Amino acid sequence: MSDSVHDYSAVWHKTIAALRREISDAEYMMWLNKLIYENSAEGRITVCVPSKLVLEEISRRYSQTLEERLQELSGKKISLEFIVRKHSGPQEKKEAPPVVETKKGITKHSQLNERYTFENFIIGESNTFAANAAIAVAKNPGKAYNPLLIYGGVGLGKTHLVQAIGNAIHKNFEEKKIIYVTAESFTNEFVAHIRENTPHRFTNKYRNADVLLLDDIHFLQKTERTLEELFHTFNALHQNNKAIVFTCDRPIAELKYMEDRIKSRFGQGLTTNIQSPSYETRFAILKKKADSLSLAIPDEVIDLICNNITTNVRALEAALSTLVGYAELVSKKITLETAQAQLRDQFSAPQQNNVTIDIIKRTVADYYGISLGDLSAKKKTKALSDPRQVAMYITREITEYALTEIGQEFGGRDHSTVLHACDKIKNKMKTAPALESRIQSLIHQIKENSVKA
Ligand code: ADP
Ligand code: MG
Repeated sequence: MSDSVHDYSAVWHKTIAALRREISDAEYMMWLNKLIYENSAEGRITVCVPSKLVLEEISRRYSQTLEERLQELSGKKISLEFIVRKHSGPQEKKEAPPVVETKKGITKHSQLNERYTFENFIIGESNTFAANAAIAVAKNPGKAYNPLLIYGGVGLGKTHLVQAIGNAIHKNFEEKKIIYVTAESFTNEFVAHIRENTPHRFTNKYRNADVLLLDDIHFLQKTERTLEELFHTFNALHQNNKAIVFTCDRPIAELKYMEDRIKSRFGQGLTTNIQSPSYETRFAILKKKADSLSLAIPDEVIDLICNNITTNVRALEAALSTLVGYAELVSKKITLETAQAQLRDQFSAPQQNNVTIDIIKRTVADYYGISLGDLSAKKKTKALSDPRQVAMYITREITEYALTEIGQEFGGRDHSTVLHACDKIKNKMKTAPALESRIQSLIHQIKENSVKA
């Protein structure tokens, strides 16, 4: 509110510089270096990318981190908007006017990613129930299956389905107010409104929605006031036949910190589960994805990926992206041999699904000879805070847990504490190679323990 000129170019460049320090040069050259700051307005930065393909990759790999970092550095929520325009690198000057990637006639919904539609969701036995329920909700919002709860492991298509519901409703019921929000943002937003003494604005916003899509409700755990607020929002929306869809990484009954009365309300509609896809479904997903990129990938390469990555669709896509990057940069045809060579590491890495915070904590605590409880304790002595920071850093590096969730798991700390810990470790590693190798060996150990688990 205080800044009348919303020029976020400085904060953008700082963010990129900060991220650059965290990734390899090759990765930086392949992705972040292709972004060009275009302009900004209140709460938004527009960035130019050279192709749709790069756009998809950047969104998948970095948008969340970019937005988190922007918020850290600027102290406010800044969303990113991408436009696709050919350019050869960030140093290049602008040429043709940008094309905003929206479908004809429909304005873009700011919280929904147009890539997530029912049309490009492959239905297989692992997700038929969830997908059909989602389609039914999209056809008949607020009437069919209310609330709908979709649960399942990481990278199995929960966000895709819930966003597809949003996109379909946005297209077919233009007047409906749709809110898509992750539980983490919901929490942060609520806390910010409380701090600024504007809870009514928060309440108004959410209780006036026609469709509430709340992603990853497992990240709501332990935040009692937020849960209470959500409970009232839920009741208000439900009574008025407004559509509500939740996603969660586990059955709702297993949400440890949520009161039973809330769980039973949230689970009172239809609960569906997405499981790991079968070989056929994995093959169909990759084939469709490769076709949409108009990239010639032989079936034997798709077969290779599907045989080696079995539980997580996001990991399947990541393997494909590696090949895409390779083809783009080295401009070689993708053969079985190149695929085998390029994907060796991705295949040998244990799939992330198995790595839990619990295994990380145990491994780190064992290594430093402290107790599990010490990792969550309030005490700030160096003997405890060092291992704690290492454990938080590793969790951030090798799992998909959000900052808030990591903070909760390590003694109810907030997301900025986690971020601070990660930065500290990163900086220390630069000057202390011993720490870096200790962390590498811990990560190795954690992955081994995860395979055994
Ligand atoms: P989750 O929210 O369950 O962690 P996402 O919805 O983010 O998983 O899915 C991870 C990636 O896999 C996304 O890019 C998504 O488009 C893709 N994906 C998952 N399931 C399917 C499917 N059945 N068909 C096509 N793409 C899928
Ligand atoms: Mg998700």
